[in-house]
Amino acid sequence: MEQVAAEIARHAERELEALVSVSSPSGDVPGAEEAVSLCAAFAPAGAELERVPCSTKGYAPDLILRLTGTGSARLLLIGHLDTVVSNESHRPLERTGDRLVGSGTVDMKGGVVLAIGVMRALEQLPERFAEVSLLLVNDEEWRTEGLAHAERFASVDACLCFEAGQLAPTGEEGVVVKRKAAGTLRVHATGRSAHSGSAPDRGANALLGLAAAAQAVAAAHAPGGQREHLVAQVAPAALGQRALGLDVGAVLVELFDELVDAGRARRLGLDDRHAPAARSTP
Ligand SMILES: [Zn+2]
Repeated sequence: MEQVAAEIARHAERELEALVSVSSPSGDVPGAEEAVSLCAAFAPAGAELERVPCSTKGYAPDLILRLTGTGSARLLLIGHLDTVVSNESHRPLERTGDRLVGSGTVDMKGGVVLAIGVMRALEQLPERFAEVSLLLVNDEEWRTEGLAHAERFASVDACLCFEAGQLAPTGEEGVVVKRKAAGTLRVHATGRSAHSGSAPDRGANALLGLAAAAQAVAAAHAPGGQREHLVAQVAPAALGQRALGLDVGAVLVELFDELVDAGRARRLGLDDRHAPAARSTP
């Protein structure tokens, strides 16, 4: 067993480097095709390869690797080749100490190369199974339809996914037995502009609408749930303020300083284009 694990690990690092060097964001057909052809090359020699339509229209077909044995059990290994990282932000694999860092390494190309390694090990034990399939999909991150392959594999005896989990609270390795469902709501708020000096109450502020939507979603999550794993990193906004008898420019700067002091805002440098359009009005 340990010998097999060492063998899987030896291959995994090199295969991971090759797979992570390919940028394969969800929906990028050339990236998906390249990742698929690498997995086909890494597959055990005795595996049959099949391309099946992806659950999401317009995406590259998914890949199934299949080994046939002489036993009775049917096993499904499942994984995905798409990442949440755009082509522009893609980072190839780097070694940092004993860590391998790069786009999609954990989620989940690392798991994919381990699953392929498991298949190579199982190829040597054909009496232990009737069929072992590895299903690699290209649309896991943003799929909005059901999984098209669910019925085909509905009767397998076991299904394992090598997506990374977390350590137990006590620091031990663990096996994830269930996952949270996830959904994304894209909200685009459209306000109604009004003159902020003469008729401020006739307007509807798009930003406040967005904030209300964000708070409603945050408040509605199920116990144990989490918000979107891709939390918005940047939300540009031009915040204006008018008031009678106040030096509004100074008020805004003071407000900004308070936010910085409270750790809720960060100074990005003195760039006029991005400075708050603060001026005082009579
Ligand atoms: Zn994943």
